[in-house]
Amino acid sequence: MANVTLEKIVALCKRRGFVYQSAEIYSGLNGVYDFGPLGAELKRNIRKLWIESVTSTPEEVLLIEGSILGSHQVWEASGHLKNFSDPMIDCLNCKKRFRADELNLEKACPSCGVKNWTDVRQFQLMFETNLGALSDQATKAYLRPETAQSIFINFKNVLSTYRVKIPFGIAQIGKAFRNEITPKQFLFRMREFEQMELEFFCKPESSDKYFDTWIEHRMKFYEKIGLNQSKLRLRKHEQDELAHYSKQCTDVEYEFPFGWKELEGIAHRSDYDLRQHSAHSGKDLSVFDEQTKESYMPHVVESSVGVDRLFLTLLFDSYHEDNIEGDTRTVLRFNPAIAPITAAILPLSKKLSENAKPIYENLKKQSFRVQFDESGSIGKRYRRQDEIGTPVCFTFDFDSLEDNNVTARNRDTLKQERVSIDRLEMYLRKL
Ligand code: ATP
Repeated sequence: MANVTLEKIVALCKRRGFVYQSAEIYSGLNGVYDFGPLGAELKRNIRKLWIESVTSTPEEVLLIEGSILGSHQVWEASGHLKNFSDPMIDCLNCKKRFRADELNLEKACPSCGVKNWTDVRQFQLMFETNLGALSDQATKAYLRPETAQSIFINFKNVLSTYRVKIPFGIAQIGKAFRNEITPKQFLFRMREFEQMELEFFCKPESSDKYFDTWIEHRMKFYEKIGLNQSKLRLRKHEQDELAHYSKQCTDVEYEFPFGWKELEGIAHRSDYDLRQHSAHSGKDLSVFDEQTKESYMPHVVESSVGVDRLFLTLLFDSYHEDNIEGDTRTVLRFNPAIAPITAAILPLSKKLSENAKPIYENLKKQSFRVQFDESGSIGKRYRRQDEIGTPVCFTFDFDSLEDNNVTARNRDTLKQERVSIDRLEMYLRKL
């Protein structure tokens, strides 16, 4: 098996319509991407499985959808206005900009080879905008750099309207924006991305237990969606690495071709956020304990992962190049629950299209994600489906007219078997 590289993944995504550079016809927008039909399906599956997983715990986990625009006060209270910046440095010779913490400043510019740096400055990562038409009356607002804060500021709303009790979680999937100094590695570091975040509220004394429970639960999720376990590891943050809000943090790391990197962050945020928002808004966000008859501030365990970063991880993890009788076949070995297309229906000859089409239409009606492809040699059509990770192809041939069977061809084993057309639905459900 040949090594997977970032270049191969980028090329495949473009070739097959998973991901396009945003505004490509105008030479692109750096760090921003659009998702094509297959990419959109893959993302949909990622979100669905994540929701199923986080809401499957014995404790209640509720979904919300917060706004993307956030007021100045929210980001002041959260600490982002003060702390959410990266150190930036420019090369005075070639004008390239870098993150100062990713360079050895004693050395020359990696781009032009000259050593002529500006001073290091702090660069605010939040995108700022103005609400309202008149500039003098406009209110400053920010595009959220994480989805978590809308959960904290809605904590009391959810608690009082849904009549839920601590411990419980609030989960959210949505866009986040960061003006990254150097967006890079394709979907790994983008300026507009999507996060799946869970904030789990519990009593202070049980927070360490829940921190461990959630780490375990999240690792089970990655096992379930089929990530190669030898490429996953947990890394506990050292005390001096911890973000301003966190008491403990453990990253789920994946071994990308460019090294072990964070896929997800799991943090013990203590009562930092609720305390901050209580203090800044003047609204008491503590809860009353019926047993002890005392109020307390809940503690929070957070799990945060990027949809796009997991998307990229799944591509790297499932990418294989097989050698079949001297020919190379590229295949994405997606777990069937993740694969954008579950099955392809392929009439062997165009003359059979009309007979094969009802199979496609019927499976589509049953909500299966299926494709109908009638053009090109059957070998080429199989390769195409392998490359987009379709677990099974059903080929309709001249015998099918007589025996009402199709040939099911397995993506991974390449085994072929005859299956009755009446049983295709069951066959796919078993996958
Ligand atoms: P990094 O150290 O990689 O910048 P971070 O620690 O700032 O990440 P968090 O704030 O913990 O990231 O964000 C939680 C998750 O959101 C990350 O684990 C990652 O999956 C995703 N994420 C963060 N920033 C980006 C980005 N610029 N592009 C894509 N995904 C991102």
